[in-house]
Amino acid sequence: AKKEGRGRWTLFDPQRNAVAVSQYAMSVRIPMALDRGEFFLDYQPLCALDDGAMVAVEALVRWRHPELGVLGPDEFITTAEDSGLIIPLGRWVLLHACEQAARWAARFGDAAPRMNVNLAVRQARNAGLIADIDRILRSSDLDPGRLQLEITESAMLGPRDPALQALHELVAMGVSLTVDDFGTGWSNLAYLRDLPVSGLKIDGSFVSELRASGEDPVGWRIIGGMVSLAHSLGLSVTAEGVETAADAQRLRSIGCDWAQGWYYGRPVRPGEITRRIVEAVGG
Ligand code: C2E
Ligand code: CA
Ligand code: CA
Ligand code: CA
Repeated sequence: AKKEGRGRWTLFDPQRNAVAVSQYAMSVRIPMALDRGEFFLDYQPLCALDDGAMVAVEALVRWRHPELGVLGPDEFITTAEDSGLIIPLGRWVLLHACEQAARWAARFGDAAPRMNVNLAVRQARNAGLIADIDRILRSSDLDPGRLQLEITESAMLGPRDPALQALHELVAMGVSLTVDDFGTGWSNLAYLRDLPVSGLKIDGSFVSELRASGEDPVGWRIIGGMVSLAHSLGLSVTAEGVETAADAQRLRSIGCDWAQGWYYGRPVRPGEITRRIVEAVGG
């Protein structure tokens, strides 16, 4: 028998072990993949619900694996976190996202989208984080106000977590923080008091459940409650997983600020985002 997470014991499962082995094999290849330039970033728009304007993009990492084809983050991020390789990989993501954001800012000024980057909790707890981000902002020449870090709610930190200090320092530098996957991990909202966040992203599962359940009033009141909570704390709210015009209309009617999802655009190569900015502003 093998010990699992919360003290549960299960019989040895060969299939599961095969997965574990391939994850190990995958993690040891990450440094080489970084050297060889096998990672790339797609960008997905975040749009204002009132007029549809693209206000930001989220950088989403992919791995062009020579044998396995293009892998999504769900296939390697957890492994990278467990092995600690999320530190160099996360640094790579930050650098490339900031360089791209700086190119858009240089070309389009205030019409350029702000850049959202996912920050794994392991990165937040890494002693080198502040120095890394400071160096990346300088070398890419990006205004820190254009960078927003997304931290998953389930990874939320207690009041004595060493990462809190680093997150406060980032905010002092002008970087903003947002709670990702809001609503999926809340046993205790005290972190909203301790963390200097400026926004919440409502997890896509809430929006997709509503789409499936139609006019379910309870579901809508839950999302409405999240929006009110955020606004009463002075935070902005983004809904994820917005796939239809009806989703957007209902979220707009309950006062949600921004939306991200296929209705507003799938994750795409940076050139496609450039094309959208040009379409909106000219030049
Ligand atoms: P997330 O932060 O919740 O990112 C949004 C995910 O939802 C993306 O999947 C995106 O493609 C997908 N999505 C967007 N719009 C829709 C929609 O309308 N409907 C549906 N069904 N899905 C939609 P992706 O790219 O596979 O990313 C998965 C997760 O991997 C992300 O979830 C994020 O937690 C993580 N991730 C991605 N890039 C990074 C990274 O650079 N660093 C870290 N630490 N995590 C990352
Ligand atoms: Ca995210
Ligand atoms: Ca999210
Ligand atoms: Ca999510």
